[in-house]
Amino acid sequence: MYLSTISPVLDACALESAQLVVSRHNNAIMLTQKISHIEVEEAKRMFEHCRNVVIVTHASADGDAIGSSLGMYEYLRKKGKDVRVVVPNYFPDFLKWMKDADQIIMYDRHYAKAKMFIERADLILCLDLNEPKRMDNLADPVVMSKAKKMMIDHHLNPSKFCDLTISYPSVSSASELVFRLIDSMGGLSQLTKAGAEDIYAGMCTDTGKFSFNSNDPDIFLIIAELLKKGIDKDKIIRNIYNNYTEGRFRLLGYILSQKLKVLPEYHAAFFTLTKDELNQFQYLKGDTEGVVNMPLEIKGTKLCIFLREDTEKPRILCSLRSVDDFPANKVAADFFNGGGHLNAAGGQMPCTLDEAVEVIYKALDAYKDLLQA
Ligand code: 5GP
Ligand code: MN
Repeated sequence: MYLSTISPVLDACALESAQLVVSRHNNAIMLTQKISHIEVEEAKRMFEHCRNVVIVTHASADGDAIGSSLGMYEYLRKKGKDVRVVVPNYFPDFLKWMKDADQIIMYDRHYAKAKMFIERADLILCLDLNEPKRMDNLADPVVMSKAKKMMIDHHLNPSKFCDLTISYPSVSSASELVFRLIDSMGGLSQLTKAGAEDIYAGMCTDTGKFSFNSNDPDIFLIIAELLKKGIDKDKIIRNIYNNYTEGRFRLLGYILSQKLKVLPEYHAAFFTLTKDELNQFQYLKGDTEGVVNMPLEIKGTKLCIFLREDTEKPRILCSLRSVDDFPANKVAADFFNGGGHLNAAGGQMPCTLDEAVEVIYKALDAYKDLLQA
């Protein structure tokens, strides 16, 4: 039986074409259907037939990566599965309040243990990533594993390395997709309060506390369901955002007062950080998370670029953020060996910081017309 928020006299076909359709399960809530029925049924079948599950996500995991992974972990554990979350490397401290975050295995630190679980797995879930490359060193063991693989992701251009690819770039977070999949499978009652907290955290961080990419009314219907699970959303926001070290806070001041270059003629801004500067502020992974969004608060700014020396490899990491329809992902692809979403993109460059700054100016010149429009 389809459910609708509008006239009950519309027949099921009309409803489906009008995309006002929910899922087919009695317990499901009223969301516009995004994940196709075929994919839902295939995912259900894969979950029924698995025993040992490994959940993997992208390198330098963010709130959505960890939130979607732990949300799915909670759900599958409740279903009696043996579940492990393996991440390529360290993830930020401000995500460690999540239940069982201390059970997450970091591949670069606990290589043998992670490899053992991957080899033993009969199902691998690839969350918040669209291609193996995003997993760094974890890519090879995942791709080579004989386990069935399922991708649940919202980045453009998913590569075909999974048996089931659930890819919806219009959805603002992988965590939202995890919720939608669980709901569509009729599994909402098996989502625990901790799982609801994880999903809320992922949705919240990928939309800047619901300040961008978050006009879909479904997002708020989902939040209502998560609240019904008993989550304290205000506390989750405090756990994530009011949880920085003094070093991070002072680094922010240093960037804004000393490092930020504003280029009104391009409607753009950028800043750079060397390894020495990061060390000066006792840099911990995640300390610069979100700072690249801040210059967009300057009136008229459409694009902000942040370059920093990687503390682990000899390369420059690039983050780009934009507003409206300015394509940060195209700039990242054209100039910074990267890609991403329309308004949030990144990349890496095998060069010096000074050389990378020159690339910024080249990129701004190339996109001058669009920036000035
Ligand atoms: P961040 O600035 O947070 O590192 O990355 C923002 C977004 O850009 C990520 O969510 C991801 O979609 C995308 N991104 C970052 N680095 C890369 C990259 O090297 N390649 C591609 N294709 N996308 C990236
Ligand atoms: Mn994401």
